[in-house]
Amino acid sequence: MNLRQLQALARQHGTPLVVVDHAVIRRNFAEFRRHFPKVQPYYAVKANPEPEIVRTLFRAGASFDVASLPEFMLVYENIKSWPAPAQQDFIWDKIIYANPTKPRQTLEALDRYKPLVTFDNLTELEKIHAYAPHAGVVVRLRVPNTGSMVELSSKFGCDPAEAVDLMLAATRLGLAVEGVSFHVGSQCCNFENYVQSLNMASAVMREARSRGQPMKILDIGGGFPAPYHQDVPPIATLARKINAEIDRLFPPDVEIIAEPGRFMVASAAWAVSRIIGKARRDGKPCYYIDDSVYHTFSGIIFDHCKYPLKSFRRGRKEICAVFGQTCDGLDVLSLSEELPELKLDDLVYAENIGAYGSASATWFNGFPPAKVVHVNL
Ligand SMILES: *Cc1c(COP(=O)(O)O)cnc(C)c1O
Repeated sequence: MNLRQLQALARQHGTPLVVVDHAVIRRNFAEFRRHFPKVQPYYAVKANPEPEIVRTLFRAGASFDVASLPEFMLVYENIKSWPAPAQQDFIWDKIIYANPTKPRQTLEALDRYKPLVTFDNLTELEKIHAYAPHAGVVVRLRVPNTGSMVELSSKFGCDPAEAVDLMLAATRLGLAVEGVSFHVGSQCCNFENYVQSLNMASAVMREARSRGQPMKILDIGGGFPAPYHQDVPPIATLARKINAEIDRLFPPDVEIIAEPGRFMVASAAWAVSRIIGKARRDGKPCYYIDDSVYHTFSGIIFDHCKYPLKSFRRGRKEICAVFGQTCDGLDVLSLSEELPELKLDDLVYAENIGAYGSASATWFNGFPPAKVVHVNL
């Protein structure tokens, strides 16, 4: 995607606009496969649930991690080559429901698909047994999330010391126990989290196997960092660590899967917005754009992410504030952006906004989410 194309698309479709480049998604997927040849990626749909993205990744060979019944159905319905009648192996090979807490009604609706689901406590296990007795289960461990941009360990995962007892309980209830999972936290640049988690998972698996519990799947979760800026360590460094630990710690019959969300889509989208207002407050230039933190830029709030705004215009840059279109005081994109002097109707853009942005956009203030355009489908 070059800037000329981006501007042309904004002229054609108007603003606010999100452009998703599927060539970049395919490149990210291929890069993941190249670095982790023994790991099957289950794309975490919540990062960006556009059906076009699901189809592109399916054609590239991906499987999917879903967080809800609607996401499960979205994947199910968009996989056109789904064999009929659906083969059980194919469902498990293609979808894991990795949200550890599931509403009863969701379990009831999913049971006919015999889904693969995660859990991390006995209450959930009993619920799965009662409402989705045909599910296969994967236990989620609580692992270190130190230094990850989004921390998950206070909400999810069982104490590793309880994991084997939970698996034995699942077996006693007649559920198919498939394996172990973890999540090191999103945008994890502290790769020791993965190393420690792999060691914990291997200890759990070894003990489970020694107590007669077959273990097929190791799910190493998400967290693979997107290259937002130059300080993000390269995925090749992470791959060397993970691959060495996998070879050392797990027997070759263990099937290894991962749930990358952000890594697949973050760098594949651009947002283009328009300057709709301009003011000077205490000497600082302030710009108002036709998008907001309640819309495409929701990752600023929910994802703890920053998206530097850039101008198509050249010129001497000065520090300015950029605000969203809503009348809420929280709706601040930046208080210290560096932009040249802009006029009304000028366009600005942000890169690397494909993950957790549009995905959590709302209709706040009556403004609809930005239009999404897919290129290189
Ligand atoms: C959100 C989530 C993911 C995706 O995480 P990324 O950091 O975007 O790769 C994967 N697995 C689970 C269980 C999640 O909740």
